[in-house]
Amino acid sequence: MVKVVETDLDFSSLSERSVTDMVVIHHTGCNDIDASAEQIHGWHKGQGWAGIGYHYVIRKDGTIERGRPEWAIGSHAYGENSHTIGIHVSGDFEQAEPTVEQVENCAELIADICTRYGIPIDRAHIVGHGELMATSCPGTNLQMLLDNGIITGKANYYANPSEVKPVDGAQQEGNRLTERFNSLASVPEWAYDTVKKMVDKGLLTGGGLKDAGGYPADLDLSLDMLRIFVINDRAGLYD
Ligand SMILES: [Zn+2]
Repeated sequence: MVKVVETDLDFSSLSERSVTDMVVIHHTGCNDIDASAEQIHGWHKGQGWAGIGYHYVIRKDGTIERGRPEWAIGSHAYGENSHTIGIHVSGDFEQAEPTVEQVENCAELIADICTRYGIPIDRAHIVGHGELMATSCPGTNLQMLLDNGIITGKANYYANPSEVKPVDGAQQEGNRLTERFNSLASVPEWAYDTVKKMVDKGLLTGGGLKDAGGYPADLDLSLDMLRIFVINDRAGLYD
């Protein structure tokens, strides 16, 4: 069960949603700030709305805050609010990357919601705001994690850990989600070339501790960071 921090926000009026068959992902945009549910509640009230339009807010440290009650019709995706739940991931993902904690907890929250409502965890039912209307929300860097199947892959894993493995490169890595990789030698084979390239280029330096080969021995990388690095590498970001 996902831990949700209750915020006890006051709403002027709410109505109940009768259908729930889709989850829509958003970001803050404009500024890469760690917006809280209470803060967004204030912004949306200021626009004359009942209160915060999203049902959940995921802070940069991964904390999941309650926004609008889950049973209520939200105000986050024009024309699509009557059948959707809105998740806001705090930050501007046109310029920043979602944190590992945000990605992980977003997937876990999606798994929880989809399990309770019987929603299939696939790209037809888990969408970015910009897939429903013309907007750059939830930002290129978060949308990419939807498009390459990372978020739905992880959500499927959380919904059914014994049956489904997270994603391609991590098929044998399901039990390594909390492991830290400190040296080149400890990095899984599929990520080795990328990490070596990043070390060679001085993009990854560690804290100063070296192994016998003169490479950093305190990289402190998580499996999720490795996945993102490999995706970035494929996109040519480190060339
Ligand atoms: Zn949005």
